Parts: sequence; C-alpha cells; structure tokens
Amino acid sequence: MSDPHRREFLTAAAGIATLATLSGPQQAAAGDPSFMNNVPDPALAEKELPTFKFALEQSTGKVIGGSFGKEATVTQLPISKGIAGVSMKLEPGAMRELHWHATAAEWAFVLEGRVRTTVIDPQGASETNDFDPGDVWYFPRGHGHMLQCLGDRPCHFILIFDNGYFSEFGTFSITDWIGHTPKPLLAKNFGLPEQAFDSFPKDEVYFARGKIPPEKPSVPLQGWKPPAQTHKYRLLSQKPIATFAGGREWRVDSSRFPISKTVTGVILDLDPGALRTLHWHPNADEWQYVIDGQVSVTLFGSHGRFRTEHLAKGDVGYIPQGYGHSIENVGTTKARILIGFNSGTYESIDLTQWIAGNPVDVLATNFGQTAELVEKFPHRDVFVAPKDGPGK
Ligand code: MN
Ligand code: MN
Repeated sequence: MSDPHRREFLTAAAGIATLATLSGPQQAAAGDPSFMNNVPDPALAEKELPTFKFALEQSTGKVIGGSFGKEATVTQLPISKGIAGVSMKLEPGAMRELHWHATAAEWAFVLEGRVRTTVIDPQGASETNDFDPGDVWYFPRGHGHMLQCLGDRPCHFILIFDNGYFSEFGTFSITDWIGHTPKPLLAKNFGLPEQAFDSFPKDEVYFARGKIPPEKPSVPLQGWKPPAQTHKYRLLSQKPIATFAGGREWRVDSSRFPISKTVTGVILDLDPGALRTLHWHPNADEWQYVIDGQVSVTLFGSHGRFRTEHLAKGDVGYIPQGYGHSIENVGTTKARILIGFNSGTYESIDLTQWIAGNPVDVLATNFGQTAELVEKFPHRDVFVAPKDGPGK
C-alpha cells in the first residue's frame, strides 16, 4: 500500500483501532482473509519463498496405544495458513471420542481399513456411516462427531481442515467438558444423581478404547433421525472425472457432495514422468498429501521467486491461493496424490489454456518471438502432460 493510500485507510479506520494494530504483523497473523487480500502476508513477503513441504508421516504427533494423530498446522508448516491436515490411525476397538471443532470443518479420505462415524447437526438430526478405503466424509464446522475403527484391523485416514490454525489437539472433547463441569451442574443438566458422574474421566480421553463395535450400527438413543444431506461420498467408487495420457483425476466438490461447502477433494494419479502442468487456483489454497510415489512440486511466487520441493510418500505440500505451481512424477512407479482445496467450488487456470486463449500477435509481442514459434504452443488446455510432453 502506498503512503497516501495508507493514510486514507488509517483515517477511515480512526477510532476503531490504533496504528500499531492495523499495520503490525499481528493483524495478518490473525488470518482475516479480507484484510490479508490487501496486505502482504509476512510469511510470503520475504526475498525467497518459504518451504512448502512437511514430512507428516515422519513426525510423531499424539500416540495412545496403537493409535496416533499427526498434524500439519501453521506450527509445523508456517505457510499453510488456510488448511491444516492430520494423518490418523486407529487400532481395533479405538474411537476418536465425541468432539467438535470451533474453528474448522473436517473433510476426510480413508486410506486403509474401515471407519464408522456419527455426527449431529443443529437440527438434531444424526447420521451414522461406515467408510471403506476411497470414501470421503465432511463435517461442517462445529458439528459434533466421533470416528471409530471397524473390524479387527487398524484403519488409517487423512483429515483436512479448512483453517491452517486449527489443531486437532485443541478440539472440544466430550470428556474434557464433562470432566471439568461441577457435578451438581451435571446432575441438574442430565437429571441424574451426582454420584453417577463419580467414575467419569477427569480429563480428555481423546482416543477411547473398548470392544470392537458391532458390524451393524446400533440405534441412537433418540432413534434414527437422518439429516437432509448425507456426510458420506464414495470418491474412488466413481469413474475418474477425467482421464489423460499420463494420468487420471477423481474430484468431489459441493456440486456432487452438497454438504461439502468449504472443501473440494481430489485424487490425482500420475504415471512415471507425467506432469500436472503449470496452473493456479483463483479461489482456494491447495493442500497435498502423497499417498504413493515421488513427486517434484514447483511454486512460483512473483518477484522472480521460484521454489521446488521433492515430496515422497507421507509428505505434505501447500500452495497458497493464486500461486503458480506444478506436480511431476519423478519416480519410477505410479504416483497418487490426495489434494484438498478450501473451497466447495473447484477453479483452476492452466498456463497452456491461458496461452491458447490469446492470439498469436499478442503472444509474439509479449515473448519477443516469431509468430511461427508461438503457433507451436498447444492450442488447447493440457491438464496433464505425459512423460514426453503433450501431443498436438
Ligand atoms: Mn474431528
Ligand atoms: Mn493445483
């Protein structure tokens, strides 16, 4: 912001806040997106781009028995202000206890094993669903839920949250609340004697451990009362949204999964050598988790800033909204990447498409090249290029 503009802005805001809080780094750190659209994000304002990679599966996280939760928030990956992620494994009989998130919706993709969830909404409707590998769930911000391992084998899933400041270890858990509420209040609240709460947990349980749940879900205390919109979507049971020489993509946004208003999810398969071509997303940040393979991810951040990270299985990458990027399979086997966006509407602009959308003379002048050379660029969008590049 130039000085005259800044003065106007401060004048307009006089009486609301001090100069220090308006212009200091604290305001941007608070993550107000309307404000950050106008003020450089300090994390992205340095001469060099910061790292956009975090080795999630190599971290320890929270471990209880055979279950764990490993997280990538702004603490582990400072660039990732818009989206946080968690890798969670539950051992048989384990439950991620009843909880809600005050500041984030939860989107999930099941990698291994089977999971059961229950979720309550503000209308009092509740849903119980069972999930297999390739299935997705979405819980709106603030809706209470639990996650339970089904069967005698562990389950493993990736959680994506639409807020990079959200920590999975700062959720509102039911045992934490009840354990810290005076017993007379609990007795009045539930119509039970105070002694009924004597042996309840005193602190947050987080992972509750019990018997393997029944194969057929049991009826809730209030009976079945399903919500208007389901929380479950079978992503990999669908046909890919697009198939290319070099790869294929499954995608689910709110047009196919209406409850998922703040998250779009993608599974992208790239054959060895294939490239998800240079592109950007006008409306969303991008969070990446490598399910299989080895990829090279590039990031372009204006001012000549360009950074490349190598991501292997279990690593996380993050692309801020509007920043140019690409993903290339640099391994010898198929790469599979889980991608989450913090918008329920998918938008991207590919560099090949942009160039194809401009006339030869414009391109020739812009690059200082001959019309003959410019004519050789693809005349269409190349979403994924195979190993040897796009054909004509
Ligand atoms: Mn949760
Ligand atoms: Mn992208």
